[in-house]
This record gives sequence, structure tokens and C-alpha cells, in this order.
Amino acid sequence: MGPDQIEMVEVAPRDGLQNEKTLIETADKIALIERAIAAGSRRIEVTSFVNPKAVPQMADAEAVCEGLPERNDVTFIGLVMNARGATRALATGRIDQLGAVAVSTDSFAMANQGQTSDGSVDAAKQIIALSQAAGKTGQVTIGASFGCPFEGEVAQDRVVAMAVALAEAGPVEIGLADTIGVGNPAQVSALVAKVRAAVPHIPVRVHFHNTRGTGLANVWAAIAAGAVTIDASIGGLGGCPFAPGAAGNVSTEDVVYMLERAGVRTGLDLSALVSANHWLGEIMQRTLPGMVAKAPPFPKQA
Ligand code: ZN
Repeated sequence: MGPDQIEMVEVAPRDGLQNEKTLIETADKIALIERAIAAGSRRIEVTSFVNPKAVPQMADAEAVCEGLPERNDVTFIGLVMNARGATRALATGRIDQLGAVAVSTDSFAMANQGQTSDGSVDAAKQIIALSQAAGKTGQVTIGASFGCPFEGEVAQDRVVAMAVALAEAGPVEIGLADTIGVGNPAQVSALVAKVRAAVPHIPVRVHFHNTRGTGLANVWAAIAAGAVTIDASIGGLGGCPFAPGAAGNVSTEDVVYMLERAGVRTGLDLSALVSANHWLGEIMQRTLPGMVAKAPPFPKQA
């Protein structure tokens, strides 16, 4: 079943850190990005251009961009919520791809972006258009695709309709995010298949939080259903400041272990990721949620 190769996007510098109370030094964020690249990552969500009052951890977005290594083989992604954020990101000259967010319910869209769900779709389309006008690419993630922290169940038809509307703007991919980690593999399988059928010309990326332990199962189900790109965060850090109860992303090293052992190539080096987990744990001064980095290597290194 499934492909023998998938693409991964490293989201630790943005999603991984944004919910951390302790402000991380810009230099450490750059070091994290460099470690991801050294481990083989070629698409990295490096920061978000949002109101620093709302997300203090991302207040150094421009400084992070200034410190990015010169790599024309790496796609640096900046997350933006509106035209103002897009303008900031493009002004750095270092962001290759804008990541927009549309949210499936009005309540969460209000909390996240101060607008309705439909308003978030319009904003995302505008961001994609701005990226294209600047000669860059744009992609979009549909937040709370598998459940909403305020409204509970989310109708799959709603997410599919959003994907169809967003596709009109020509994003390079559409992401389906389980922002609060409530999804299950059967649901993931069904929704990925429905979105694939509705917009077959646009690749599907998935973004899972492991709040309730279903993250890896959801990754596997998504790939089997046709998703080609997986978001993950070194160490399994992550969360959303506007979604009560959101915990960490699936950890990059756990996803890589599972997929590589199952014969699906990721292009990433597991031992470099485990080292990055341990390094990041020292910076954060705690053991990170990812599980593979706590276990002995398998199979044993010669
Ligand atoms: Zn997330």
C-alpha cells in the first residue's frame, strides 16, 4: 500500500515554539533550522508574521529571516494570517513560500484570526495571490479540519467545500490540520480521500497534533489515502495559543522512524534528528514529548 517516498515539512521553529512561554533566543532558532537542514529537511516553516502582542515568541520573525542560511535547495516557509503579514514576510526577501491558514469554524476563526471561517478563506486566497504576485508560491492549511476546540465536530463537507474554494487561488498544496489532536485514522482516511477527489490537481499535506496519542496512526492513514506531505516538529513540540488544550505536533523523529522502518523514504536522517531532539531539550530544559529519542537506537548501530 501507499507510496515508497513522502515529503516532510519541519515545523518546529514555528508551530513547535510558538506556544512556549520562555522566549527562545533568535540564535537558537537559527541553530534549530540549521540542524533540521543538516538532518535532510528541505522544507521548513521558519517563523510566522503575526502580531507580536498575540504571539510574543514570533516577535523576532524578521531577525530569524536575516539569520537564515543561504540555501537555494531549501524552501523557507513563513506563516501569515493576513495581507499585512504577507507584506512583512515578502519584505524580508528570504521567505520562499507563504503559508496561509483558513479555519473550518466561525468560533475558532474568530479566536485565531478575528474573522469568520468564510473570511479566513478570503484572506488565505488573498495571501496566495500576494505570494504569486511577488514571484513566490503560496499554500494553505485548513485549521481544525478534524474537530474544533469550541464547536466540537466539524462536518467533512465543510472542509471539502473550503478546499474547493481555496483551490481557485492556485495554492501549491492544501494542508489539513488536526489543530487540537482529536482526529482518528478512519476519519483521516475519509477526509483525505474526499479532498483528493474534490481537488485532484492539488497535493494534500497533513498536520497532526498528538494530543490524544493518535498522531502516528493518523499519519499512516493519511499517506495511505493519498497525502504526500507530512508536517512534523523535532521533539514533538507544538501547540496553538488560540486553541485550548492543543498539545505537541507529531515528532519528526517518531514519524521518520515509523516510515523508514516501514519502507517509506523521508529523506531525513534519524540519528541527526535524535541529536537535534536532545539538543533542543537542553535549550527548553525539559525532556521533549517525542518517543524515539528516549529509546535506544534500533537496530543497534554497528
Ligand atoms: Zn499545528
